[in-house]
Amino acid sequence: MRIDISRILSGETDTLPFDVSFEACEDEGYGYFAEWGIDFTDKISVKGAFYNNGGYMSLQATASTSYDTLCARCLKAMHKTFEHSFEKSVASELTNEENDDFVLTEGGCVDVSALVCEEFLLSFPLKELCDELCKGLCPKCGKNLNGGECGCQGDTDPRMAKLKALLSEYD
Ligand SMILES: [Zn+2]
Ligand SMILES: [Zn+2]
Repeated sequence: MRIDISRILSGETDTLPFDVSFEACEDEGYGYFAEWGIDFTDKISVKGAFYNNGGYMSLQATASTSYDTLCARCLKAMHKTFEHSFEKSVASELTNEENDDFVLTEGGCVDVSALVCEEFLLSFPLKELCDELCKGLCPKCGKNLNGGECGCQGDTDPRMAKLKALLSEYD
C-alpha cells in the first residue's frame, strides 16, 4: 500500500491526512507472523498524517488490527486486537543508512504497508498468556494444569528426580 505524498513534497500542502487499510501480505514480511503463530483475522488499518514543518517532513500514524493466537503456556486459542502508534521522519534520500527513524520516499510515495510491517515486527507481543496466572501444560503428560493437577508434579525436575533416587537408597 503506497501513499502518494507528492503534494507534501512539492509544498502544496503541509498536512496530508490518510486512512488506509490493507491485507497483511506475506511477501511484504508479514509471513513472519504466521511462523510465530499469529493469524491476522482483519485487515491492517492505518490512520495518520504526513507533515511538512518548514522542510522537515514527518509521519505520525496509528496502525491497528485483530488476530488469533495461542496462549504461550497452555495453547488456548485467543482472539486479540493490537494497536501501535509511531512517528517517523520522511526523507527522499538518506545520508546515514543506519538511521531507522527515517522512512524513504520512492517516486513521491511512501510504502505504508512495508513500514507498518517493520513497526509490527518490533512491537508485536509475541508471548501472550490467556491469563497472567496461567499454569500451562504439564511437561510430562501434557494436561492443561488450569483444569486441575495431573498427579505427576514433582517428577518434572530431573535434579529432583536424582535427589529422590538418592534418598530412596537410604529408605
Ligand atoms: Zn494459558
Ligand atoms: Zn502431568
